[in-house]
Amino acid sequence: MKDNNCIFCKIANGEIPSRTVYENDMFRVILDNGPATEGHALVLPKEHYADLFEIPQETAAEAMKTAQAVAKLLKDKLNADGLNIVQNNGETAGQTVHHFHMHVIPRYKNDGQRILWRPNQPTGEELDGVLQKILD
Ligand code: AMP
Ligand code: ZN
Repeated sequence: MKDNNCIFCKIANGEIPSRTVYENDMFRVILDNGPATEGHALVLPKEHYADLFEIPQETAAEAMKTAQAVAKLLKDKLNADGLNIVQNNGETAGQTVHHFHMHVIPRYKNDGQRILWRPNQPTGEELDGVLQKILD
């Protein structure tokens, strides 16, 4: 299914031009136009799913395979020293375009970027409480 109001549907299906680095039956992979680093790419399914909670399991698995192929391509062609995969779900988590996508972000020594969080310091009891909530 496509969503007529979704820019990533239009890009993924070629209705809006994009800088495509890789394409297969299910995905188009484009350069992010606000890149964190050189070669920052987005894996876009050609079908519309808002996020990880909507995307079918098989499509999610294929998305990771596609991300891996692109990761190898970017590492090879751009001489990346490392690489991050980032995938945001929901506004609280920083998602701004509500069409599932995976960020493939090549990393370079001294690239000055930070894809990090501030670690908390929970007690053992607090961690046990979380574990219990998840397992209950
Ligand atoms: P997220 O915050 O995970 O939803 O990421 C959305 C990403 O899409 C951001 O990194 C934007 O820079 C990127 N983006 C938004 N519109 C376009 C576009 N038309 N072409 C390429 N990248 C885009
Ligand atoms: Zn869409």
